[in-house]
Amino acid sequence: MYRKTVAFVDLDAIGNNYSLASALAPESKNIAVIKADAYGHGMLRVAEALQDVVPAFAVAILDEALELRAAGISQPILVLEGVNDVPACEVAAANELSLVVHNQEQVSQLLKVTSPGDVPLWIKVDTGMHRIGFAPGDLKPALERLRAGGHDVSVVCTHLACADDLASNVTRQQLDTFKACVTGTDLPTSISNSAGILAWPASHADWNRPGYMLYGNSPMTTDVESASGLQPAMSLRSEIIAIREVPAGESVGYGACWTAKRPSIIGTVAAGYADGYPRHAPNGTPTMVNHQIASLVGTVSMDMLSIDLTGHDNVAIGDTVELWGQGVPVNEVATHCGTIGYELLAGVTARVPRSYTVP
Ligand SMILES: *Cc1c(COP(=O)(O)O)cnc(C)c1O
Repeated sequence: MYRKTVAFVDLDAIGNNYSLASALAPESKNIAVIKADAYGHGMLRVAEALQDVVPAFAVAILDEALELRAAGISQPILVLEGVNDVPACEVAAANELSLVVHNQEQVSQLLKVTSPGDVPLWIKVDTGMHRIGFAPGDLKPALERLRAGGHDVSVVCTHLACADDLASNVTRQQLDTFKACVTGTDLPTSISNSAGILAWPASHADWNRPGYMLYGNSPMTTDVESASGLQPAMSLRSEIIAIREVPAGESVGYGACWTAKRPSIIGTVAAGYADGYPRHAPNGTPTMVNHQIASLVGTVSMDMLSIDLTGHDNVAIGDTVELWGQGVPVNEVATHCGTIGYELLAGVTARVPRSYTVP
C-alpha cells in the first residue's frame, strides 16, 4: 500500500477498554461485541487480541460468526440477530454458535433442526425498543416450546433503547418491564450495552454486552466520569498531498460550497468519502495537523478533502493529518456531521488498510 491513508488500531487500548468495562461491572461477565468488523477495527485481529481475556464474543449475523470459527476462534460466540431459516440453524449448531431467539418463526425453525447440538440459546424479550424480541407475555410460552423441543436456553436478554441519555425515563421503564417478565424463569439475564455499563448500574446483569466503549469512545450524550478512562483505539490518518494559496473570494471543491473570506492556505488531504469520511461533513469539521486543528473546507470528494491551513507553521506536503483519533475524537466529528461515532467507525471502507502498529 503506497497511499498514506490508514486506520491505525491500538489493540492494547481495546484490551484496556475491555478491562474498564469489567471493572465497572465486577459482578457481570462481559461478552465482547465485535460485529461489523469490530466497528471497523478489524474483527479477526480484535478477536485474537481479546480471546484470552473474554468469556465470549457477540456478532450480529451468522456469517460473521462463521468467519471467526474459520479463523480458529474457539470461544463461545453469540449471534445477536439469530438466523431466519432451518439450514442456517443447522449451520449454527454444527459450528457451536449460540443464537438469539426473538420470534415464534425462529422457534418453529429450531424445532425442525435434526441435531440441535448442545450450544445454549439466548431468548430475547422486547421491553420497549420494539425492534426484535418476544412481547413480555410471550416469553414463558416460547421458553416452554423450546425446552419441549430439546433446546437449552441459557440467558434471557433485552436491549436498551435510550441508555445513552441519562435524562430519559425509558431505561427505568425497560428495566421494570424486564424484571417483571423474567421473574420465575430462573435464568441468567443480560441487558447492558456500553451505555448501560457506563451509566446504569441497575442494568448490570449476569452478562453485559459492551461494544462501542471497547473501541474507546463514550456512547453517552453527556460526559460521564465512568467513561474518562476510555482510550480511543482508532486513529484515521492521511497525508497532505497539495498545498495552495487561495485568494479571498475564491472557492474550494465541488459545488464551490466554501469561499475564502481571507487569503487562505488550503491543504488537500488524500482521503474522501470512498474511504468512509462522510461526504456530508460540513465546513468547520475539525482535523488535526501537527497538533493543531485544521478545519474542513468545501465538499468532501471521493478520494480527497480540503482543510484550512491558514496560520499553521511549517506545514508541508507529506504531513500527517488525523481525521479522527486521540486528537480529534470521533464523537466530535460525528456531532459536526449530525451522526454518531458508531457510524463513522463502522463506515471506514475496505480501501483503507488497518495497521496494528501505531507509530
Ligand atoms: C450492538 C449491540 C450491542 C453493543 O452495543 P454498544 O452500544 O455498541 O455497546 C449490545 N447488544 C446488542 C443486542 C447489540 O446489537
